[in-house]
Amino acid sequence: MTLKEFKEHFFKRLSPLYPNQEIESFFRILIETYLGLRNIDVFLNPDKKIKLKKLDHLLAARERLVLFEPLQYILGQTEFYGLNFALNPNVLIPRPETEELVEWALKDADAETAARILDIGTGSGCIAVSLAKNLPLARVDALDVSKEALHLAQHNAQINAVEIHTLHQNILETGRFDKQYDVIISNPPYVRNLEKTEIQANVLNFEPHLALFVENHDALIFYRKIAELAKSSLNTSGRLYVEINQYLAEETRSLFEENGFKNVELRLDYAGKPRMIKACL
Ligand code: SAM
Ligand code: GLN
Repeated sequence: MTLKEFKEHFFKRLSPLYPNQEIESFFRILIETYLGLRNIDVFLNPDKKIKLKKLDHLLAARERLVLFEPLQYILGQTEFYGLNFALNPNVLIPRPETEELVEWALKDADAETAARILDIGTGSGCIAVSLAKNLPLARVDALDVSKEALHLAQHNAQINAVEIHTLHQNILETGRFDKQYDVIISNPPYVRNLEKTEIQANVLNFEPHLALFVENHDALIFYRKIAELAKSSLNTSGRLYVEINQYLAEETRSLFEENGFKNVELRLDYAGKPRMIKACL
């Protein structure tokens, strides 16, 4: 198949499913990734034949897009806080809101001190690795209940030439940590089952439900546990940062206040939604 033929087929197959602009952007990313070409190369060499093996990759990617699989899983990678992360369907695709949480923690941090940091529910390791990269003296622990996620987080630390220490633990069953931390940070599962109708099919059908959902009747279960653990394992000058459910912002803020946290600060994300909380003891 030639470049021009592939482009025509690609658009024809996806146009009933996606807006044209999105198809254009998928096309550009795929030919760049698998062929090392730019869109202009299709105009310059329309009759250039695509090698069979590469064509197989492109057609497989196209069929996965037909099923609405997120492009980040198809490519097996994404970008977060300026770093590259390997991805697979065992972990959530890092969200831009979470970059804002990392930004907040970094703004408050002193890069000159050897802070001890814990990331609860690390998934791809996006938070832990970004903090380790930007705070070279810090010691970063990354906790998750999923072994597969921890394996990937460790791989992502290597890709980005930083060290993280993985902890395989179910936070809901953790009595206490044996260490004291200067910073605890977490983006725990917080989407209530009743909010499933708001979640797009590409998220619902492909991303791990373990990373996303909580029971309707106990939506703040992770925050309650994090507050309890942080009270005993955060230093007196320590800071806690959590990403939150936009619909439960006030309840989440109250939860930390009722647990004795001071200066509980709520922030909006770029979309103007209440999305993160910082709390100190
Ligand atoms: N930190 C990553 C990010 O921000 O993209 C992933 C966050 S994802 C919303 C929540 C993570 O919590 C998932 O990786 C999931 O495996 C983990 N998790 C879910 N239940 C857990 C539990 N009981 N104990 C520890 N980790 C848990
Ligand atoms: N913000 C994510 C979403 O919209 C959810 C992340 C989480 O549950 N912590 O799907």
